[in-house]
Amino acid sequence: MRSLFIRPGVIEGFSGPMASGKSEYLLKRVDPLRWISGARYIGFKPKLDSREEHCRSGRNFVEWIYVSEKEPEKILEYVGVEHDIVLIEEIQFFNKAIVEVVLELQRRMKNVVFAGLDSDFRGEPFGEMKELMFRANELTKLYAICPVCGDKAYYTQRLANGEPAHYDSPIISVDGSVDNERYEPRCFRHHSVPGKRVV
Ligand SMILES: [Zn+2]
Repeated sequence: MRSLFIRPGVIEGFSGPMASGKSEYLLKRVDPLRWISGARYIGFKPKLDSREEHCRSGRNFVEWIYVSEKEPEKILEYVGVEHDIVLIEEIQFFNKAIVEVVLELQRRMKNVVFAGLDSDFRGEPFGEMKELMFRANELTKLYAICPVCGDKAYYTQRLANGEPAHYDSPIISVDGSVDNERYEPRCFRHHSVPGKRVV
């Protein structure tokens, strides 16, 4: 019973565009553990600004710990022998060191479960996702629905003032309100990146 849900040394990943249900899948993955006595899990999310370091949020049933995206190695300080599963949300925002953190957790025989955007608005690998998806022993690629045509959406479209954002605009805008910016899931046909070079 226990081994179905807790698999020491196994890395599991959920990837996909925005609105593809990554967070829901992550929570669903650990939901059965609530009913298994003695199972322990701990969750991390990147904190994209520095207002409060390591603030915790108890939303849902996971106690999320926010760690600076520039210091993913701090995750290791929170994970103890009592934890069986380590959840990492929005893993694409962490810097390069996140790969070594995940591998160290694996060496400590933790069951790592992460969720992240596989591609940025340009349709290119987001952060370390390419490497993390390779390191995942089990990977679930999710999709959303394209609001233009209703087909499956595998990409994330950035819109600035209602128009597709240019390739050279920054990957992460500090202020989400810049240029009336918003994001939508899109199919390949409706994913548009002006200025993208075709190789
Ligand atoms: Zn479409």
